[in-house]
Amino acid sequence: MLAAKPSDPLYYQARQHVLYSNDPGISHLQRRLRIGYQRAIALRDALAGDAVEYRSDTDSWQIHPQADRVTDFLIEDKLAHAAQLIYNAKALVIAAGAGIGIDSGLPDYRGDEGFWRAYPALGRSRLRFESIASPQAYQERPATAWGFYGHRLSLYRATTPHSGFDLLHAWGQRMQQGCFVFTSNVDGHFQKAGFPSARVYECHGSLHRLQCTANCQGSIWSTVDLYPQVNEAACEWLGELPTCPHCGALARPNIQMFDDWHWNEKRSAQQRMLLDMWLDSAQAPLVIEIGAGRALPTVRNFTRRMQQRGSRLIRINLHEANIHNPGDIELALGANEALEGIAAQLLQHG
Ligand SMILES: [Zn+2]
Repeated sequence: MLAAKPSDPLYYQARQHVLYSNDPGISHLQRRLRIGYQRAIALRDALAGDAVEYRSDTDSWQIHPQADRVTDFLIEDKLAHAAQLIYNAKALVIAAGAGIGIDSGLPDYRGDEGFWRAYPALGRSRLRFESIASPQAYQERPATAWGFYGHRLSLYRATTPHSGFDLLHAWGQRMQQGCFVFTSNVDGHFQKAGFPSARVYECHGSLHRLQCTANCQGSIWSTVDLYPQVNEAACEWLGELPTCPHCGALARPNIQMFDDWHWNEKRSAQQRMLLDMWLDSAQAPLVIEIGAGRALPTVRNFTRRMQQRGSRLIRINLHEANIHNPGDIELALGANEALEGIAAQLLQHG
């Protein structure tokens, strides 16, 4: 790493282009940065020992084998650029995955170990998240499935969405054509943060709605009157299990679970229709994608379609950002840190 601040303001951009393309050539630098030959030579000389090295045995420049590709030296520039895009945008889409919730203190179930730490009773039975959040669990061990669901419902009700939600809400309100949320999260936190229900598409449903396991009449009802009593040590629902008001069959959450062919997607489909109508009227809205991983790609696929329609992207993802993406802005930060960072830059726009 460099001890002193580089003298050329294009230093870090040059560094990124060289590492991203694996091309230490002078003409490449000239083209990408639109600079003259002398300045490109000086920049590459300055990058020696950091991103590139001169090999006398082959009389050629190479990428430095120990170059730091993890640190994003352009992060401040990117936060400023993101603020600029938000300031100029007329419409905003927020595309959110599980990563946005972590800053509110919600658990991150990465792998069985993390999940079983949060639910020791399920760990003792070696029940994985995919097994307990499944229609089969509601059939085979309904008290446990409801115990798990009841605990989650109480947890999400008790959790306040972090301040990043408020920032997003404020930005959306300033947009001429407003804002729409596309989320794979089932926690209802966008509505809790003040986003109107008619502007939220929950593609996997909502924990705050129930449906019939027999799907008798296709109705979906609210959990507003449901007060879960759960034996947490055993992960068991206490008392009578909630049933369908029409046919008396067992009720279940209206969320898309694993291997779920019985999810009633009516409500979600209506939300989707509202989103599509709004997209028809909003021209290439700016997309801020937050905490959407590659493992469950629903949100990322949506983002890609928006890009194909001409939308610019600001991606916030602590673990899966491509920080060298020259076309869009990708920030390898947590949701709250990134949003607060952009907000600080936006203040300078008055
Ligand atoms: Zn029913």
